Amino acid sequence: IRRLFGTSAVAAEEPITPPVEVKHTQLLINGKFVDSASGKTFPTLDPRTGEVIAHVAEGEAEDINRAVIAARKAFDEGPWPKMSPYKRSMILYRFADLIEKHNDEIAALETWDNGKPYQQAVSVEIPMLARLIRYYAGKPSLPQKKETPYGVAGQIIPWNFPLLMFAWKVGPALACGNTIVLKTAEQTPLSALYVARLALEAGLPPGVLNVVSGFGPTAGASLATHMDVDKLAFTGSTDTGKIVLELAARSNLKPVTLELGGKSPFIVCEDADVDKAVEMAHFALFFNQGQCCCAGSRTFVHEKVYDEFLEKSKARALRRVVGDPFKKGVEQGPQIDEEQFNKIMHYIRSGLDSGATLEAGGDRFGTKGYYIQPTVFSDVKDDMLIAKDEIFGPVQSILKFKDLDEVVRRANATRYGLAAGIFTNNLDTANTLTRALRQGTIWINCFDVFDAAIPFGGFKMSGQGREKGIHSLRNYLQVKAVVTPLKNPAWL
Ligand code: NAD
Repeated sequence: IRRLFGTSAVAAEEPITPPVEVKHTQLLINGKFVDSASGKTFPTLDPRTGEVIAHVAEGEAEDINRAVIAARKAFDEGPWPKMSPYKRSMILYRFADLIEKHNDEIAALETWDNGKPYQQAVSVEIPMLARLIRYYAGKPSLPQKKETPYGVAGQIIPWNFPLLMFAWKVGPALACGNTIVLKTAEQTPLSALYVARLALEAGLPPGVLNVVSGFGPTAGASLATHMDVDKLAFTGSTDTGKIVLELAARSNLKPVTLELGGKSPFIVCEDADVDKAVEMAHFALFFNQGQCCCAGSRTFVHEKVYDEFLEKSKARALRRVVGDPFKKGVEQGPQIDEEQFNKIMHYIRSGLDSGATLEAGGDRFGTKGYYIQPTVFSDVKDDMLIAKDEIFGPVQSILKFKDLDEVVRRANATRYGLAAGIFTNNLDTANTLTRALRQGTIWINCFDVFDAAIPFGGFKMSGQGREKGIHSLRNYLQVKAVVTPLKNPAWL
């Protein structure tokens, strides 16, 4: 492979020093940063080098319990759920303002811990974080009188968009008056601690938002099984989602929202503008190093435009700028860690072994860290592993189709149903596909358009429930019927 495509030497350069210091490594419980009960810590690594950024307090069952007790007390006795909607709004607006004020520092922390391009973090993700919090700051007055917060919300999030996942969970839960114990992903514990401190600064009462860093089978499982957690929201892989649902069922039957994996089709129709479709399909797959739940990871292309599309997609992938995510102009940084790196390389080998044609990439990039070359496979068949499994990396699979009925059948033939992209200039085609595809989000002539107001979530094994938009408020409110006798009611 090296001989065919060459390797770039960029990653041999020394990593750029991140423009931020790590300030918080302890757990946030009851408004204070504290060590874990056991005193244990775990290292969080720089994906550019595999070197340690910081040692972070490792929360386990006892810490989750301490955090749940704090959240329970803050809910039962504290001011938060009883506060006027206006006052709650004002605290959330201040929180959003503080995020905006520290935008660049937060973005640097996110890039350092996760490996995503700084440009993406600083100009898209952190501004979106502030927007999401502000959107929910406007919602506390929405719930009607007889809708009441659940109480203590347990929230478990992944590493691919640490702070956006934080906002999708924390925003609606707080707006509805719940208190929270949030467990971050063990790969990316830093940014949520920083941001949660800003929430305190904005006036969030102690115990309302507790953040516990730690691992899934210990901290995560303790949260899912805790008898005093009233509601659970989880984002992560489908396999872990099943475990979490089972843990919730076996403990106190807490309701669970799940945002899980995907294998989204991106359909390029015969009438599509090929240059635009190439660029959008490239973005749909390679954005965030391919580490997106909704990545357009099955690129279906009509046979009439297939050859042109393939040549141009290959050229685009070869032009993709990979390198230190702090460097200006870099489009793709390293994968999150060695485990994901190995998993993706395994899928690349599987693609080769199963007879797909490697058009670009296929190897590691540089010598240090977890960089992978932008990789494109053509001649991909539906039954190949690379067309069925969620790779979660920079590997584009291009498949050929003949007609709409066929592509609908093939696009739907997956256990997932998170999202789809359609590229066409024909309204009938767009309508036909939109009706037939079984996906929670369908983007027409665009992809990855996210707005605080647009609901997001999966059909089938991609999840249960919706996040964002006003739909997400339903996840954090339950209905209470209150009946009082009236004098001589007409209907009794
Ligand atoms: P993961 O399932 O390994 O981990 C997610 C979270 O669950 C982490 O915080 C982890 O510590 C925790 N966890 C792991 N085992 C646990 C257990 N036994 N009990 C309780 N918690 C446990 O997933 P990941 O690798 O961090 O994230 C990638 C996955 O997330 C992908 O499949 C991706 O599609 C999915 N994802 C989905 C969405 C969405 O909105 N649908 C968004 C982002 C990511």
